[in-house]
Order: sequence, then structure tokens, then C-alpha cells
Amino acid sequence: MTKVDIAVVGAGLTGSLLACYLARRGHQVSLYERRPDPRVGDGERGRSINLALSERGLDALRRVGLEQQVMADALPMRGRMIHPVAGPRDFQPYSRDGDKAINSISRGALNNALIDAAEAADGVTLHFGHRLTGLAPVTGELRFETSEGTVGVSASVVLGADGAGSATRAQLVAAGVIREDVEFLDHGYKELTISAVDGAFALDPEALHIWPRGNAMMIALPNPDRSFTCTLFWPYRGPSGFASLDTPAAVKEHFEARYPDLPPLSPGLVEDYLGNPVGRLGTVRCDTWHVPGGRTALIGDAAHAIVPFYGQGANCAFEDVVELDRCLTETAGTWELALPRYEKQRKDNADAIARMALDNFVEMRDRVASPVFTFTRKTELA
Ligand code: FAD
Repeated sequence: MTKVDIAVVGAGLTGSLLACYLARRGHQVSLYERRPDPRVGDGERGRSINLALSERGLDALRRVGLEQQVMADALPMRGRMIHPVAGPRDFQPYSRDGDKAINSISRGALNNALIDAAEAADGVTLHFGHRLTGLAPVTGELRFETSEGTVGVSASVVLGADGAGSATRAQLVAAGVIREDVEFLDHGYKELTISAVDGAFALDPEALHIWPRGNAMMIALPNPDRSFTCTLFWPYRGPSGFASLDTPAAVKEHFEARYPDLPPLSPGLVEDYLGNPVGRLGTVRCDTWHVPGGRTALIGDAAHAIVPFYGQGANCAFEDVVELDRCLTETAGTWELALPRYEKQRKDNADAIARMALDNFVEMRDRVASPVFTFTRKTELA
């Protein structure tokens, strides 16, 4: 069994950034990721996801000198553009003087930049193709499946940053040390693309575009190659649900009737729709994020995945990393004290944004299109 100092499980956004922060504190960090290195090869079809990165997330990047590099690929969105079924589009600025923006950024590009930074940090070792399958929370013994067989590791501290479907969390639940509640929406998501037209953006690139349609909606965020990634947030069932729209004719007819400005902008719409997967959306709540003793904790989506309607999942995960780092400083690096302190500082905030994200789905898909809507709430994504 290999002995390591700190094992971080998951080299997504949270795990890679966390590795950078811990390395800065002088720790030896082993970062384990089930996927192969995402910087090599193509991404998964229909799972490109571009994020709205806001000040909360940027602050975390700034503290480790990554803001400028990440922002070089970001596109500022200064307001939301509402696309009604008929009639003119309505631009609603995020600030009265139009100077505030949230930033559209590719999740894959952001993840690659963070993995690069972790790899370059002294003391971080990356292990791709390592899928966590076992964890003893009190002793810190871990088991990974790899293409070469099973690997055993013993760590002083284990931090689970392995996302909404966290295997670390599942191990802690199975060991009876935490309880989880996972609540799935009866809506899923599917991505589509609007390509550049003659090298230009087909829609205003300084806006987050929203097609509110009552029980369903679509959004589109700009990409640096002048395309837009659209995301449908639709119910699984019902007349505008994914299950009933499963033939080329039904799909074409539905978009022409409900999203009439889209088909002319997206010639491959029907093929994209039928070929791309539907992703699930849910909220993860845990009664606690750490195991007493200072050896094991959860962070980011693994601890508190939320639905994406406030555009705050990654932003919130980055704030976790900053807070954990702060708690380590305040406790002189004593993990036994730092982990409960980190949880205490973050959990109420995470619970609050989880509720707000669910509420904002109703607002985005329905109320933003209503003439009585006024700009009374400071929303970061919508
Ligand atoms: P993940 O990104 O899920 O990373 C987890 C990593 O762990 C992955 O690399 C995975 O391969 C790895 N892993 C999983 N299991 C194992 C295992 N057994 N062993 C080893 N490794 C493992 N957030 C925003 O801030 N703004 C937005 O606008 C926004 N929009 C979104 C839109 C959509 C459609 C979705 C689905 C999410 C959106 N989010 C947004 C949320 C954001 O993507 C997540 O909050 C963020 O990715 C969480 O990062 P993470 O590293 O905690 O988890």
C-alpha cells in the first residue's frame, strides 16, 4: 500500500483548484481522477457545458494567480436577452449602468487550465485513470481501480471532490458516517449548438440568451469560436418533454412552433437534438461534510451539488476551496479543527444557494418573460 500525505479524489474544477491551494501550503498532494487526462483527446459529445463564472469564482482564481489566464478565454455577458415566441427580443442589463457582467467560459477549458496549474505546482502528483472504489474513512485507506488492476493507498487526509455522483460520499454513506439526500428534478438538460455565421456570432455575444417557455426553457451562452452552446431545460414527460419529442418530424415541428428563431440559426438542430444525451439535474444535501478526526471531508459538488439555474455551482465550489484554506490558516494547519470549521462556515451558504437555484428555475423559465417582472433581485445568472 502506497502512503501519501493528502489524497484529493476527482480532478474536476474543485479538485484541481484545491490541489493548487494545498500545494501552496507546502503539502504533498496526490490527485486521483477516474477519467483519462482530459487535455488529451476530444470531450464527450453534448457535454461541453459553458459556465457563467462570477466574482465569487474569480476571487478564488485570483488568489492563486489564475484569473488573468482564465479570463483570456471568457466572454462577458452584460445582461440577459429574452426571446419570446413572437415579438421583439428584450435585453435586460445586469446592472443599471451596464458595466457589470458575468463571464461565459467553457467548463472543459477551465478544467484543463486548472489541471495545468495543479501539474505545475510543486508537490502535486496527478493520477488519471484511477477510479475510487473503496474508502475506510477513519484510517484513510483508499482503493482505486485502474487499467493495471487495483491500487491501494493510505492517506493522512482524504478530500472527496468527485462531483455530484461522488463515490467518496457513497463510501461515507455506506460506512454510516454521513447521511445524504439526493433530489432529482423532473427536468433534464440537453445541449445544442448555434454555429458562427460567416465567422460572426449569430446572436448578441454580450448577453445570456433565454427562451422562457413556462414549464420549459432554453438558454444560450457564447463561446470564443463565435458559436453558442444552447442548453434545453425540459421536462422528461409531457407534450414539451424529451420523451415525447423523439422523432425528426416532432422535433422540427416543436422548435418551429415554440423556438421559431432557432431553426434558421441551427441547420443541424434535429440531428444534434436526436444525437445528444439528456443529463440529469439534482440537489445533493448531506447532514455533515466531514468525519470527526480530521481525516476525511467532502468539497464542491460532492458535498452540495445544486441545480444550475443560478449559475453558482462552480462558483460556490471555488468558495469552499478558499474557505478550507482560510480555516487551515486559522487553525495552524490542524485538520481536526479546520474541517469542522470549514463546514460550519460554508454549509448554511450552500443550503441557501441550493434553495435559491431551485427558485430561480421558476423565475427564468416563466417570470422573466412576464411584463410585471422588475429588476428587484440581484441575480448572478439569469
Ligand atoms: P465535477 O465537475 O463533477 O468534477 C468531479 C470530478 O471527479 C470529475 O472529473 C470526475 O470524473 C471525477 N470523479 C467522479 N467519480 C470519481 C471516482 N470514483 N474516482 C475518481 N474520480 C472521480 N456552475 C456555475 O458556477 N455556473 C454555471 O453557469 C453552471 N452551469 C452549469 C450548467 C449545467 C448544465 C450543469 C450540469 C452544471 C453547471 N454548473 C454551473 C455547475 C458546475 O458544473 C459544477 O458545480 C462544477 O463542475 C463542480 O465541480 P466539481 O469539481 O465539484 O465536480
